[in-house]
Amino acid sequence: MSALTVLNPATAQPIATLERADVAEVDAAVSRAVVAQRRWAALPPGARADALRAFARVVEEHVEELARIEVQNSGHPIGSARWEAAHVGQVLNYYAGAPERLLGAQIPVPGGIDVTFHEPYGVVGIIVPWNFPMTIASWGFAPALAAGNAVVLKPAELTPLTAIRLGELALEAGLPEGLFQVIVGSGSVVGQRFVSHPDVRKVVFTGSTEVGTEVAAGCARLLKPVTLELGGKSANIVFDDADLERAAAAAPGAVFDNAGQDCCARSRLLVQRSVYDRFLELLEPAVAAWRVGDPTRDDVDMGPLISAGHRDGVASFLDGANVAFRGSAPTGAEAGDGFWFAPAVVLAAPGDRIAQDEVFGPIVAVLPFDDEADAIRLANDTIYGLAGSIWTENLGRAVRVSRGVRSGVLSVNSHSSVRYWAPFGGMKASGLGRELGPDAAEHFTETKNVFYATDAS
Ligand code: NAP
Ligand code: MG
Repeated sequence: MSALTVLNPATAQPIATLERADVAEVDAAVSRAVVAQRRWAALPPGARADALRAFARVVEEHVEELARIEVQNSGHPIGSARWEAAHVGQVLNYYAGAPERLLGAQIPVPGGIDVTFHEPYGVVGIIVPWNFPMTIASWGFAPALAAGNAVVLKPAELTPLTAIRLGELALEAGLPEGLFQVIVGSGSVVGQRFVSHPDVRKVVFTGSTEVGTEVAAGCARLLKPVTLELGGKSANIVFDDADLERAAAAAPGAVFDNAGQDCCARSRLLVQRSVYDRFLELLEPAVAAWRVGDPTRDDVDMGPLISAGHRDGVASFLDGANVAFRGSAPTGAEAGDGFWFAPAVVLAAPGDRIAQDEVFGPIVAVLPFDDEADAIRLANDTIYGLAGSIWTENLGRAVRVSRGVRSGVLSVNSHSSVRYWAPFGGMKASGLGRELGPDAAEHFTETKNVFYATDAS
């Protein structure tokens, strides 16, 4: 075991010291999960539903506490953190409706009855990144539990505190011991053990494309199914027939929300050449109005970056870049030792690093395009395909472009990406499989087909 010091990114001060689990502890947790899962799966569906509703209620009662922990640990503005904590309750409530609705099929066959069952995998391992610690965890554990699985959850080392609290709240709500366990530790030890442990029957990974590819390769060796939610370089496409004022006012939030540490960040702004100059004129005051500061305050749009190392990585994208303008960030005494970074708007060309690589910080690359075909070609010109936005008042164009962009989650005249009752996930290097929506619980099951002979002979 080794000690892990957790920092507040707004101050760089330590807020907790934890022990990292080793492989033996992961193995012990998986053994407990195996036992708990058998009992859980044997419960009546309505009893599992009741237990998840009880968990949801306890989370709802602790929204303020969870939000405050997230502000301290992740630097999310308090308003965002409250939304995230409430979202966990909503996701649990939604999937609490799943146990009685995991319907199989009855297939017409001669000489008997053919029926399918949705059998849980057993133990599911969930590996979570630091950018949205609570919400992303819940997208895995809520449907996995609803489908009759046990869950072992590994939060990111930088942001384990809300996950730990959710594990405690699950027990407080009456979930059985061992059913939902949070294991703090490093990705290369705890995460890797989820991949290699024979009793972890499915892995859900959210994080970088690089690590996700390794996780998928490890799972393949054991023929273990894996869901991957990876990086993005999403396009915000503004056509000349759009409501430019609305599009410009919304653009900072689309990329600078959560300090750009959002896999769905619209980090490429594609603007039709005929309105390019006008759009930048409208964008500049919107970026200037974006409030960066103390995340405990209600009136702040964005807090600090997650770590000093991450800030260095983000800053490297501005080396030699053509910066059009920047927003503000705290300075002097107000900044303290926090990991602040002022948002930046960069004028870019398609082949530039800033136009291709994920920044995961508050930098947007602006590129002009000529026509609809050019916009679709540019939008698809990265290895990623997670999210995107299309701004136009032309319905036919909205339909054509939304069908033409190779991304899993798109919005027209809006930047929304996440509704827990609609599917979420990426194409290309952005992922494999989908989370959320009406089918997510089923994704944590395997179909069993049984033929019952009825012929007496
Ligand atoms: P990361 O380095 O890939 O880490 C993600 C998680 O995987 C962490 O819990 C990490 O543990 C763990 N991990 C690291 N190495 C591992 C290994 N060899 N085996 C198993 N697990 C391992 O990503 P990050 O830096 O935390 O997050 C940023 C990235 O996540 C961005 O690329 C972003 O786009 C992506 N992301 C995608 C989505 C989505 O839904 N598509 C959502 C959020 C983030 P440690 O705690 O030890 O680092
Ligand atoms: Mg990492």
